Amino acid sequence: MEEKNLICINCPMGCMLNVAMEEGEILGVSGNTCRRGEAYARKELTNPTRIVTTTVKVSGGAARMVPVKTREDIPKRKVLECVRALKDVEAKAPIRIGDVIVENIVGTGVDIVAAKAVAQEIWQPDEKGHKTLLKDR
Ligand code: SF4
Repeated sequence: MEEKNLICINCPMGCMLNVAMEEGEILGVSGNTCRRGEAYARKELTNPTRIVTTTVKVSGGAARMVPVKTREDIPKRKVLECVRALKDVEAKAPIRIGDVIVENIVGTGVDIVAAKAVAQEIWQPDEKGHKTLLKDR
């Protein structure tokens, strides 16, 4: 029998979990204060997944970057590939919360969505001929 130790990341308590395993099978989980800890340990050792949050560039927007995230968890082994793929992505303003920025990121079947709105940048001359920045919302 082998033992693995994990820290539960589901809440600030950060319980130290001890997982008893044999031939890849989980025999039991201890150290968890609640059931979420056991579920976390089982998932983390069999099919670890993560929500990815990062930022991508914006063109034509009132901000240069927009925060984005995966709509759902993706496999942990795909996280680095996902972040690298987003490095060269440029989203066009206007952007609304929840807009799909990239479909099916790195073949995971999960979309990358905007976590914040970015207004479109519109320049318009005023009565003195100076350009004024308007925002579409
Ligand atoms: S086991 Fe429960 S109480 Fe402990 S860190 Fe995880 S979620 Fe929080």
